[in-house]
Amino acid sequence: MSHAEPLSLPSYLDQPPEVVAHLAELYRRRTVMRIDGLSKLFGSGAEEVVALRDISFDVHHREFISVIGPSGCGKSTLIRILAGLDYPTAGQVLVDGLPVEGPGADRGMVFQGYTLFPWLTVKQNVLFGPSMKGTPKLRAEEKALEWLRLVNLSDFADAYPSQLSGGMKQRVAIARALANQPRILLMDEPFGALDAQTRASMQAHLLRICGQVNITILFITHDLDEAVYLSDRIVVLGARPGRIMEIIEVPVSRPRSPNQFLSGSFLSTKRRLEELIHHVEISAKPESEMMAEVYG
Ligand code: ADP
Ligand code: MG
Repeated sequence: MSHAEPLSLPSYLDQPPEVVAHLAELYRRRTVMRIDGLSKLFGSGAEEVVALRDISFDVHHREFISVIGPSGCGKSTLIRILAGLDYPTAGQVLVDGLPVEGPGADRGMVFQGYTLFPWLTVKQNVLFGPSMKGTPKLRAEEKALEWLRLVNLSDFADAYPSQLSGGMKQRVAIARALANQPRILLMDEPFGALDAQTRASMQAHLLRICGQVNITILFITHDLDEAVYLSDRIVVLGARPGRIMEIIEVPVSRPRSPNQFLSGSFLSTKRRLEELIHHVEISAKPESEMMAEVYG
């Protein structure tokens, strides 16, 4: 197989039969999260920022859906609303048909920053959570070790966070979130602070975990490769106002592997994302508007 970029790429809309079948099966699954007409304004008057405008999409059981877009397009605002940490100005979020009214154990969160408790061991960090509360101690510890095995950290159960690398800390954070058995895992640029090599290994870990655990994931990133590599679908947001530009069905077959990074379907999807995110954002804006932004 040649590793050069093909001269003419297929369209990202051309889906091989196995992808067509996978997506058809995915759409038949139940909706875990429904995002319905969300808008979010910050400030008022001249200070008003439309962080999100009329965002709607459904997330299906065991789907891996990414949200991508330029800095400031409202990604973190969106995920904070989904987590119940902030409220929309309009619209609503439903989990299994019920409106979200605040944070809840049905939604696990993994952020970019490391959010482990430094004074607790790795195992104690995983044990820390609502679903472990009523469980007898020995059984809970057994379960914590199972989650640590899943993220390949069994040997570090008694270590403290300060003894771990960034990638390892993030794997503990993933284990802790999964240990609470959420309906959906919300991840806001979880690998953003990691070096390229660690990031690649974390992506492989996450793909493996998705194969082994019954989990639905909504994943925020601004890394195009990461979005294509991991996702079933990618929601592309534009900035000011933060709005959906397109929802892309990723035409790359599963199981995913790094060999696919140079495949026609991968590259054509990435090219489409580039068009939507970089080209449109930079050149489609009237010059007067850009000058106004620069000079206030
Ligand atoms: P992203 O995560 O895509 O970089 P954010 O969701 O952090 O974007 O921000 C979207 C927009 O909303 C930005 O213009 C940001 O300045 C604004 N914003 C976010 N949070 C607040 C807030 N608490 N108060 C005022 N403006 C905010
Ligand atoms: Mg953000």
